[in-house]
Amino acid sequence: MKGERMIILIDQDGVLANYEERMLDIFHEEHPEIPRIPHEELTEFNTHKAYSEEYWEEIENIALRPDFFRSLPPIDGAIEGVQELLRLGVGVRICTAPKKIFKHCVGEKYEWIHRHFGQKMVNKITLTRDKTLVRGEILIDDKPEITGSRKPEWEHVLFDQPYNRHIEDKRRLNWQNFREVLGL
Ligand SMILES: [Mg+2]
Repeated sequence: MKGERMIILIDQDGVLANYEERMLDIFHEEHPEIPRIPHEELTEFNTHKAYSEEYWEEIENIALRPDFFRSLPPIDGAIEGVQELLRLGVGVRICTAPKKIFKHCVGEKYEWIHRHFGQKMVNKITLTRDKTLVRGEILIDDKPEITGSRKPEWEHVLFDQPYNRHIEDKRRLNWQNFREVLGL
């Protein structure tokens, strides 16, 4: 804790890494005949559900392929945003849930963090499917509701995405306004 003003847990997919855009890029490369749903119209947290049910499994399975997680582009401002938090003395931790089918996901998520932030940040990854067990003052996450086996210690601050705008009782931020929203 020495020197750290507070611990902020940061989700990886949909906050740092652009999971859904990459998934849809691949899907539409392979299906040029299907009209692409614009990002702002993606109102489902589970991206595949924005499409007709016959494609659900195919879209979901894209994320299980080798090289998928490795190839995710950063979300605009995310890399600089994390570096800024570190400069401000915030205790940044990556808190991310692995896929149940983990073969490629786990290693490639680590690789992604290593490539963009280096070994120091790899040492600060918590990989868990129950984020309520992890301690910290704030969790920045794009998922509308985060549940688990405990009442969380952290405040869930939404990373703004079109699919979480129906949630009105939580603070929300992006990598352009996080300093103001968090009062840093
Ligand atoms: Mg996420």
